[in-house]
Amino acid sequence: MSVLSHRLAKIAPSATIEMSARAATLKATGADVVTLSAGEPDFDTPAHIAQAGISAIEQGHTRYTQPDGLPALKEAVSAKFARENGLSYGHENLIICAGGKHVLFNAFMASVNTGDEVLFAAPYWVSYPDMVRLCGGTPIAIPTRAAEGYRLMAADLEAAITARSKWLVLNSPSNPSGAVLTHADLEALADVLRRHPQVWVLCDDIYEHLTYEGTEFATLAQVAPDLADRVLTMNGVSKSYAMTGWRIGYAGGPSALIAAMRKVQMQSTSNPCTISQYAAIAALDGPQDAMGQNKALFEARRNRVMRHLAQIDGISCPKAQGAFYLYPDISGLIGKCTPSGKRLNTDQEFAMAFLEEQHVALVFGSAFGLSPNLRISYAASESQLDTACTRLAQFCASLTE
Ligand code: PLP
Repeated sequence: MSVLSHRLAKIAPSATIEMSARAATLKATGADVVTLSAGEPDFDTPAHIAQAGISAIEQGHTRYTQPDGLPALKEAVSAKFARENGLSYGHENLIICAGGKHVLFNAFMASVNTGDEVLFAAPYWVSYPDMVRLCGGTPIAIPTRAAEGYRLMAADLEAAITARSKWLVLNSPSNPSGAVLTHADLEALADVLRRHPQVWVLCDDIYEHLTYEGTEFATLAQVAPDLADRVLTMNGVSKSYAMTGWRIGYAGGPSALIAAMRKVQMQSTSNPCTISQYAAIAALDGPQDAMGQNKALFEARRNRVMRHLAQIDGISCPKAQGAFYLYPDISGLIGKCTPSGKRLNTDQEFAMAFLEEQHVALVFGSAFGLSPNLRISYAASESQLDTACTRLAQFCASLTE
């Protein structure tokens, strides 16, 4: 269609659309479809946070704010970074955006030129490559390995860096693998980055509060303060406080980069929703106990799904330490045939056949740049998880050579 921009031509339609459409059609026919593809907590926003939004409306906080966010919210974000991450950011180092995704987009829009490379580990969050392409850059995925729990290794980063590398995106805990970079991992990555001063680092810490078995969250600017003048630390309230629909994300970083991002935001969206900003203040400054309860529930669900997967021949899965995803490797099942005679050559074909025959919707690994795998989101009830895993076991057992 000739009215569309050249920029858009670089964006491929999502590989998961066909799956989602088929799942919706099956549901419409009355089939009992279990969906384990959610990218958001299945909990409600805690009541005191929701109430802060209601109070904001009642008190007439319904007008524009500063385009880069309310000073009172910047204060709460600054306190959060100091309290939880040992990072010191003044107001000129902070920006509030309409979700974590918006932070990333503003950062790339403000800094990426044609030909600039943006590096990230594979499997990656689906939005990274397309966002980079929209901003004129070249996405570079660095494969990771199941044996290392899909953590980005320093040697692999070193091998991927070129003179054109502009950004490295670190996402820990990771969507889709649940991998968590340890303090030692970050130190090793920092050593590489010190040798390549042209590379900036965007830390996507959106799943910070979801780490399990005592695994400690760490972020690069904290581990390597000498690199902080080229690190943008991104976070938000979406996953930590079950606030995906409120659309508040934020970032701390060097003032010149933040000023450039503010420029992009001023001429595009302007301030994020005023009411949501008041709710975000309540989230960051208020009681944190709901977060701990949700984390305990997620950990129990992760263990439950891991127990199911351990019983299935052909599937192997590192015990992910964070987020609410598992990323089982299904190479032992690729090439097998379904009872109806269909050979499953890829993880996409596997996921499609599993949906058709057992009515469970999962996302396949090729959507995240590392195959053959499946992404299981355990942001679902225990009974849904049990049903889906039982069906997966039946499906796998029915496959033949
Ligand atoms: N980063 C990652 C890795 C995510 O998985 C998501 C949401 O799925 C985001 C960023 C965006 O979060 P938000 O809802 O705050 O835009």
